[in-house]
Formats: sequence, structure tokens, C-alpha cells
Amino acid sequence: MTDVTRYAALLEQELPAILAMSERCVNIDSGSYLAGGVNAVIDVWAGMLQGMGFTVERNPLPGFGDQMTARLALGGNGPRLLVLGHADTVWPAGVAAEWPFSRDGDRITGPGVGDMKTNVVMALHSLKLLLAEKALSGLASVTVVIVPDEEIGSPGSRAWIEAEAKQADLCLTLEPCRPNGGLVVGRGAVGAIYVNASGVTAHCGSALEKGASAVKALAALVGPLEALGDPPNGLSATVGIFKGGEARQVVPGSAEIHLDLRAPDDAAGERLVAAVARIVETTPHDPRVIVTWRGGFTRPAFPTHDGTRALFALAEEFGAALKAPVFSLVSRGGSDGSFAARFGVPTLDGLGAITHETCSRREYVEVSSIVPRAAILAGLMAAASEGRVSR
Ligand SMILES: [Zn+2]
Repeated sequence: MTDVTRYAALLEQELPAILAMSERCVNIDSGSYLAGGVNAVIDVWAGMLQGMGFTVERNPLPGFGDQMTARLALGGNGPRLLVLGHADTVWPAGVAAEWPFSRDGDRITGPGVGDMKTNVVMALHSLKLLLAEKALSGLASVTVVIVPDEEIGSPGSRAWIEAEAKQADLCLTLEPCRPNGGLVVGRGAVGAIYVNASGVTAHCGSALEKGASAVKALAALVGPLEALGDPPNGLSATVGIFKGGEARQVVPGSAEIHLDLRAPDDAAGERLVAAVARIVETTPHDPRVIVTWRGGFTRPAFPTHDGTRALFALAEEFGAALKAPVFSLVSRGGSDGSFAARFGVPTLDGLGAITHETCSRREYVEVSSIVPRAAILAGLMAAASEGRVSR
């Protein structure tokens, strides 16, 4: 029977090692576009996984870091477990030098500390403990997937993640746990649409009538596009970037909109894209301006199905045993967990350490959450091995 309080006591002894490895990884700049840094972080994790008996495959993704797949066959009759993480952060080169890993009491901070370097390190230590305890022998296999381009929506990794998800029976995802213990049991769909306008430049003083403004054509779209949102129902369309023009005294020859889309499910997402297309294609503008658009939904919705509810119920049970808070939430943000959940693979997300102000310069992890969250994760994996949860 899974004893998470015992796991917590054993993981407590590993906490200095977890913090040291987290520090090492946080101090490596590994923004999505920094292939060398992403690979340096993967080197650290691959080394530990190999030491635990995993076979590590690394597939270079052009322009990005490697896609790492670490596999361990366990020979049990139980589920094939997929553990999903990423090595990239949202931060550009140089940030780790200005904002290195540091600890102040119960807080550790630094680029990507909670999203998600500490979480992967924590998960590897949970796996190490369970393997030493022979607590995973009921599983058919464990596969750890580390994505290099998650923070930009995993455009180059989706097919690979989906292929791994199709061969899995359970998926545990290491995005940060929310303050007060929030685990993610569902997510909306996330999309991006890019609208470009090409007008005619002309001097605003001497040749105004020769110009056709690209900015004017796109400005007319902003209000109607954002009006498609219905935030209480999980639907939004937000112009995140509006750029245009060349000089103050020149009629703008170019303009662009980057539109963020959120929808509660895939069908609502399709309707939203159709509505965006209608607005872009039918809003009147100077016929000399050419308006084009591209894009759509890049992350499917993560529906909450019974298998996910069963995983969550176990997490609640383990949280209660550890006196660690656990509650469920449906997020409007995307994660790679959606690529597994869409195939009906029971998926639970938010299994990392408790993280505040994720993806801001104020991001920090509650140090005191690391051991209980690692123990809950260990409990879920052990419970899967015991046949307490399956597809
Ligand atoms: Zn993340």
C-alpha cells in the first residue's frame, strides 16, 4: 500500500540534492530559442536518468534544443506511464546572470525555477526513490519526455508528444502547482492568429491621397475582434501585439496584429476562428490595402475525463495524508498535457512544486512545498503500479 508519509520522510533527505540540482539548472539560460542552454539543462537530467537505468534518446529539433525521450521498461502488467516536462523557459540570454538562483527563507527564485526546473528535478528524485523501493514493478514502463519548445506552444514537438501519448495509459505533467495546492484537471484551447496588412506608403504632406494606410485597415478590426470574447465562459480574443507604420510623416505601408485566442473546448475554438476570419475578411477597408491572416488553435483543449478525476482523487487522498493542500482547477492556459488528454489518456497537471507569479521576474517556489509535492507525485506513480488507477 502506498505510504506517502514514508516517501515524504525519505524525500526530505533528498531535499539538499534537489535544491542543488535546481540551482544548477536555473543558472543556465534556457529560453526556448537558446538551443545550447536547453541542451545543457537536458544534459543534467539525462545523466541522472541514465544513472537510474533509463535509455535516453535525443532528437535535435532544428533551431531549438533536443527532444529528449527517456524510457525504462519495468515489465509489469500495469499501465505505461508518461511523465511530461520541459527544459525551456520564457527568458532570453543573460537573465540568469542578472537574476541567478537564490534562496530567501522558504522562497527560491530565478528564471524558470518553478516553470519548471525544480519540478523536473523533484520528479526525477521521486522516480529514483520509487525505483530503489521497487515500487514501480507493476508498471509496464515509464517514459519521461522533456520538451525543448514548450514555452512557445511546442510547435515543433506536438507530433512527437502525441505519438508518445498514444503509447501511454497515464500522463503526469509537471507544470507548477498553484498557490494553495491547485492541480490542473482540465484546460481550455489556446490559439494565435496573425493578421498582416500591406498598404501604400506616401508622404502625409505632399502626397496624402496616394497613400493607403495599413494601420487604419487593421485598427478597424481591433474592437470587433476583442468583442468576440466572453471571458466568464472561457472565451477570449485579445490583441496582444499591434504594430505598424514606418515614420510619422508617412502613410503606413505595413501593420500587423497578433491575436491570442482562448476557448473552453475545441468546438468553441473552431467557431471562434471562423468568427475571426469573417471579421478580418469582411470589415471594409481601402481596397488598395491587402489584408491576410494565418493561424488558428495550436493547443487543443484538455477535457476533464473520468481517468483524470480518478488521478485527482488519489492526489487528494495523498494530500490529506501529508496535510498538504490539494484542490482542482481548470486552467485557461495551455500545456503539453493537452496533447495527451485529447486522446483520452488520463492526465493530471500541476504536479510540480507550489509556484507563485509564474513567468514573471517575481516567480518563486515555496521550498516547503517541494517534499510534499514530490511525495504526492511518488504516490500517484506507486498507485499506478499497484493497479489503483489505469486507463
Ligand atoms: Zn511550463
